[in-house]
Amino acid sequence: MAKLKVLLASSEVVPFAKTGGLADVAGSLPLALEELGIDIRVIIPKYASVKAAGDSTTIGKNVKVYFAENDDYFNRKELYGDKFGDYKDNLDRFAFFSREILERCKREKFAPDVIQCNDWQTALVPVYLNTLYKYDPFFAGTKVLYTIHNMAYQGLFPKEEFPKIGLDWALFHINYFEFYDKVNLMKAGLVYSDAISTVSPTYAKEILTQEFGCGLEGVLKTRENVLSGILNGIDYKLWNPEKDTKIFKRYSADSLQDKYANKEMFQKEMGLKVDRNIPMFGMISRLAEQKGADFVADIIDKMLNMKTQFVLLGTGDNKYHLIFEKIARKYPLFASISLKFDAVLAQKIYASSDLFFMPSRYEPCGLSQIISFKYGTIPIARQTGGLKDTVQEFDPRTGKGTGFTFIEPRSEGLLSAVKKALSVYKDKPLWTSLAKSVMGLDYSWKASAREYVDLFNRIVKRQCV
Ligand code: ADP
Repeated sequence: MAKLKVLLASSEVVPFAKTGGLADVAGSLPLALEELGIDIRVIIPKYASVKAAGDSTTIGKNVKVYFAENDDYFNRKELYGDKFGDYKDNLDRFAFFSREILERCKREKFAPDVIQCNDWQTALVPVYLNTLYKYDPFFAGTKVLYTIHNMAYQGLFPKEEFPKIGLDWALFHINYFEFYDKVNLMKAGLVYSDAISTVSPTYAKEILTQEFGCGLEGVLKTRENVLSGILNGIDYKLWNPEKDTKIFKRYSADSLQDKYANKEMFQKEMGLKVDRNIPMFGMISRLAEQKGADFVADIIDKMLNMKTQFVLLGTGDNKYHLIFEKIARKYPLFASISLKFDAVLAQKIYASSDLFFMPSRYEPCGLSQIISFKYGTIPIARQTGGLKDTVQEFDPRTGKGTGFTFIEPRSEGLLSAVKKALSVYKDKPLWTSLAKSVMGLDYSWKASAREYVDLFNRIVKRQCV
């Protein structure tokens, strides 16, 4: 039987370019699909951060990665914008990328059975396939899966920019691109795709509601029959304290004392009070409204008064930078604040922290809690989206559960979860057994990649539900 041919199109892919979880997924899912016998290829813009020479390379055993080249658009330091805001030509850039995805398929003589598009940056692919390429025999058998990693980023542009897409003005219509008098790329992408997925089963249900649908819940409702949720996995070759070369000392569930050695060395490196018995709370996050960093800021005085330490690595909205800079000044020995993107520091924080904050207002899947598990670091998570699917409340009486949770998006809830966590932390044997048990959880791609293969097969057979 011929191999199923899939092209994964993404604006970020580890190890070439990353701003968030999309890059992790786009860099690791293809490796798992390759293991399952899919002819999987990847395409990404050639940004300045792409060090590979030429217009393609390989990852995994032999997964081809195509680079879409256009120095004017992509040879820049950042992916989507700089300190002055989003790049002004983002629509030109990602319309170009979407066209190039299809043109590259033709040049490579690779006619995918399914193109998996990810988020608004590739949302024009299904639109172009159904308009400009509608009668192109090359794509006669090509279907599109649109994977939503975050409903809040839709690719919105002023109406005046619509001609940049190169399509008839008739499509600037409420049933396609038009969204409150703006151009909405995600909306048109959702309408034209053969199937839609998102990154956790709970988020797949949530986005059909007004609270989480970000204005597109109505469009999604009309496509509910082709919408599904598949939980993200992570690549344990990259995220594994037994093999991690970036942390101070490698450890496993059987050598947890070495995790605490990491904590001490980290405290020393960051100028914090050195004491392995101080519970350390980590947070690694885009600093955006979504992530609930303000809940943490609200409780920080109370929390640090309970003899704890807080370590933040994050970058984003300036208002959060100002809040956390102040906290850093106030608590030099108890708060370490790094307002930047730093992959190596992230690994050290996962390894050194005892607990990990994910107080998100919404969370499509969330990878950090899954990474934390592997490092024996216990998440404190709000029960929403993928967090709900992965973090279960720990019950000290039964020893069941994987973290500490709260429901309402309020700092009071977070504080009570912190208190619950600290009371368990005091009981060292109980804490150790919790840390060991989460390290044994399996969130590799094994199960989820199989679900994607099933979905691809259903799409090809036109049975998307
Ligand atoms: P999102 O994709 O919404 O940003 P996820 O939890 O799905 O959130 O994925 C975030 C990924 O980005 C994780 O791998 C996390 O470790 C990483 N990350 C986030 N902020 C930073 C940062 N400032 N420095 C290094 N890595 C970061």
